Amino acid sequence: MTDLAGLNIKYLPGVGPKRAELLNKELEIFTYLDLLHYYPYKYIDRSKTYKISEIDGSMPYIQLRGRIVSYATHGEGARRRLTALFSDGSGVIELVWFKGIRYIANRYKPGTEYTLFGKPTLFNGKLNIAHPELDPIDDRIDGTIGLQGYYNTTEKMKNAFLNSKAIQKMVYTLLSSIQSPLPETLPPSVISRLQLMGLTDALRNIHFPVSVDHLRRAELRLKFEELFYLQLNILRYTRLRNQRLGGFRFEHVGDYFNGFYHRILPFELTQAQKRVIKEIRADMGSGRQMNRLLQGDVGSGKTLVALMSMLIAVDNGFQACLMAPTEILANQHYEGLKQMVEPLGLRIELLTGSVTKKRREPILNGLITGEVNMLIGTHALLEESVNFSNLGFVVIDEQHRFGVEQRARLWKKNRIPPHILVMTATPIPRTLAMTVYGDLDVSVIDQLPPGRKPIQTILQYDNKRSQLYASLRKQLQMGRQAYIVYPLIQESEKSDLKNLEEGYEHIREVFPEYQVCMVHGKMKAAEKEGEMQKFVSGEARIMVATTVIEVGVNVPNASVMIIENAERFGLAQLHQLRGRVGRGADQSYCVLMSSYKIAQDTRKRLEIMVDTNDGFRIAEADMQMRGPGDMEGTQQSGIAFNLQIANLAKDGQILQAARDEANRLLDTDEQLTHPENLIVRKELDRIFKRQKNWGLIS
Ligand code: ADP
Ligand code: MG
Repeated sequence: MTDLAGLNIKYLPGVGPKRAELLNKELEIFTYLDLLHYYPYKYIDRSKTYKISEIDGSMPYIQLRGRIVSYATHGEGARRRLTALFSDGSGVIELVWFKGIRYIANRYKPGTEYTLFGKPTLFNGKLNIAHPELDPIDDRIDGTIGLQGYYNTTEKMKNAFLNSKAIQKMVYTLLSSIQSPLPETLPPSVISRLQLMGLTDALRNIHFPVSVDHLRRAELRLKFEELFYLQLNILRYTRLRNQRLGGFRFEHVGDYFNGFYHRILPFELTQAQKRVIKEIRADMGSGRQMNRLLQGDVGSGKTLVALMSMLIAVDNGFQACLMAPTEILANQHYEGLKQMVEPLGLRIELLTGSVTKKRREPILNGLITGEVNMLIGTHALLEESVNFSNLGFVVIDEQHRFGVEQRARLWKKNRIPPHILVMTATPIPRTLAMTVYGDLDVSVIDQLPPGRKPIQTILQYDNKRSQLYASLRKQLQMGRQAYIVYPLIQESEKSDLKNLEEGYEHIREVFPEYQVCMVHGKMKAAEKEGEMQKFVSGEARIMVATTVIEVGVNVPNASVMIIENAERFGLAQLHQLRGRVGRGADQSYCVLMSSYKIAQDTRKRLEIMVDTNDGFRIAEADMQMRGPGDMEGTQQSGIAFNLQIANLAKDGQILQAARDEANRLLDTDEQLTHPENLIVRKELDRIFKRQKNWGLIS
């Protein structure tokens, strides 16, 4: 009985093959252990039973105990409803059903005593309870007298009468059959240091809490455990990697860095930039490979930090490269960096898919001979044909467009893997970074260069469109450019594309005096680049686009960002889009267009955008509202985000404790070979057996 993971759920009494199939398909419950790890999503206090005479219309869900006196049906067709009178001796209340009418009257017999659970509402001056839950008194499970757990089920399951109650019964059957305690899954030292509840107790209480206090402790224990193994898994591979793979030691800062700093750099670095450069220098001088994530809002000066780090690599006799997610971005980086490094006498080249074979050859040769010091490019950098004489440092811009796999491919471009700096302008809440990028060290630029005018954000309803166009015209007359962005959730969705194209035609009619260009993901790459180029060059003054522009186009002259149907975008996405303006010296504007009829929480979301330009605050709010699984960047991360009980938005403290404990354990037993850590190894294997691990690719 102790190997619950080895027992097929279909053998649990009361389950059988049919229900097992549903549990497999709908909830991914295959074994006894899976069921035990399927926790309630909420609890309702059923410790008090009310008398009908006590009830008024202001009560939440309550519990009654009594008998059905009589049934009656009313109305016809769709308006047909069933009512019953329910009495407990202190009074009588009406019950109402609009669905399942035939089935109800057969199932709940008048005269039998039931526990009733539901919410009394006042209707036409009379109290009633619609669709109450009724249980025969003797059918009640011991231990559910107090807090009762509710389990998520699907529509398919409900149709097969596999509802929350049925799941609860299965769990009860399973827990009742467990006589002796289950083997502990956390090391005893951790349990005693943090005074955690034991496993068996925790599992019993998460399903059938003895008290609120017991429930809290059970939750804490199970959340901790989940996060502990997640962190342990990340950390053990990171340590193993660091141990196995040495890194180049960049010992000194030389003429290129200093020359740039003293002669070329036209402004003071911000304190944040200085701090981050120090962190990177320390890392690259440590003798182990750097794997660092650089976070900072759009315009915070990440690229400059990357450039100065690249110069340190060159100073130490190495080559450096920078990889961007799109051609346009690679081009922009190349043009910008060239201006700054060519005066130093360095050779910098651009390599993208559209660089012709003829021009490609001298570049590839220059890389092999070492004459090319810096290479800027797209995915093209990853190709087998791209070989370096001595690559020491790699910058990856806008990480979330690249998978971990691609990062690993860059490691192979030298005998010893080069240092890696990943830059992202999508701020990630700390808890998420610790999990998604848990194998990376994190640097943050949390300060904008001085003199920037904060972007002004306005929430505008559709009916004020003519005013919007008037203000837009003013900006255009001042020589500025504007983006108008349409949502396109699935690039194949026809109606979205139609909206975009209609919007484009409409704007051309409203602004006949200006050139308008259009960009969307369904276009051929060349066509898309052509349209983008029109805007970059200033030929087109308005760009109508989908979110393809989200990643990094830099047009400092653009001062207006209009986002249509803003309610359909996530906060992180809105923030990214807004970051496309405010790059020049002028006051910039972001207008969020939405219909007047939006839900309260949607309005709240958009108002956060109006309130703050701080990407970290927005990211936190986004995570609180949408949950970490839906955040930008997490899907591509390769980490399974279906956490069972912990919530990265709420459990930051537990996560930190889990990470600390995981580190402490690895400090004393890096390979997890001590006998007392056998359980830890077993659990790691069980939890992560299905997952690929990129941590060790070399
Ligand atoms: P990011 O890559 O973080 O979006 P960039 O490095 O592209 O930001 O910098 C945005 C703009 O700000 C660039 O024009 C850059 O030259 C400028 N910049 C960067 N650092 C500073 C600074 N310390 N002071 C003034 N301007 C800066
Ligand atoms: Mg950038």
